[in-house]
Amino acid sequence: MAVERVGVVGAGQMGNGIAHVFALAGCEVLLTDTSPEALAAAPQVIARNLDRQVAKGTITAEAKAQALARVIPTRELALLGQTDLVIEAATEREPVKTAIFESLVPHLAPHTILATNTSSISITRLASRTDRPEKFLGVHFMNPVPLMQLVELIRGIATDDATFDTAIAIVERLGKTASVAQDFPAFIVNRVLIPMINEAVYTLYEGVGTVTSIDTAMRLGANHPMGPLELADFIGLDTCLAIMNVLHDGFADTKYRPCPLLTKYVEAGWLGRKAGRGFYDYRTGTPVPTR
Ligand code: NAD
Repeated sequence: MAVERVGVVGAGQMGNGIAHVFALAGCEVLLTDTSPEALAAAPQVIARNLDRQVAKGTITAEAKAQALARVIPTRELALLGQTDLVIEAATEREPVKTAIFESLVPHLAPHTILATNTSSISITRLASRTDRPEKFLGVHFMNPVPLMQLVELIRGIATDDATFDTAIAIVERLGKTASVAQDFPAFIVNRVLIPMINEAVYTLYEGVGTVTSIDTAMRLGANHPMGPLELADFIGLDTCLAIMNVLHDGFADTKYRPCPLLTKYVEAGWLGRKAGRGFYDYRTGTPVPTR
């Protein structure tokens, strides 16, 4: 199936990035968010990120202008029903995602494929709350979407072959690489990555290291491009905590218990870069460790 019009629900860091790459690939993108501020900011954020690509010479100024013109912000979730593919990229909370799909279903064209960018929640369970589990799958982009090569594709128990093949073709059209994961909590990337981040928070919590020593150790000692606490701030601490909770609940295994210090940061609203403060304070421009 040809995908020309795409709906994106959620205009946060991921939704903006997803809208960006689809618009650059020539699709018209309807972007919605319940937060008027997030929706109003989205075109500027996307324009800024496209400017970076122009400056690097990876796209032309004309391609930027054309892509930006293809992104249409709207407050009306129902309008997204008339697209070929809707990707949900709202907050990582199951009731939020379920409510979005339930509101969207009555407005959907028969052929529309539904996808979720969830980092961890069961695709099969989310699909079961829609009228089309066979046309539902997980399309998990990485952050920042315009730069990261991988898209994890997750089949629910009912996802049919035609839907899955369309998803593979979409990933190719975006110039990205697909990796297929089965529908178990947090799939592949976050099953491995987020417990590592949680363990880094434990080393901070137990006083084994400071923010600086932990990040330096993993950057220089494990050759990671970013330290785990810096990466946690980048992902969003609320998202990291939500994924740990999905792993903990999904496997009923105490090895996945979220670090109490991670919970504390989220309770404080210190959610990382997007909130201006997390394991680092970004408000002065230069990141300063908060512990
Ligand atoms: P974010 O907090 O930056 O953005 C979430 C957006 O969803 C917000 O703008 C919020 O207003 C909006 N929203 C909340 N409820 C909504 C609703 N009912 N309808 C429409 N919009 C609504 O979060 P994010 O980092 O963009 O994450 C979004 C999704 O992508 C999550 O499922 C997350 O797990 C997943 N994800 C995140 C990353 C990452 O590194 N941050 C990577 C891959 C996948």
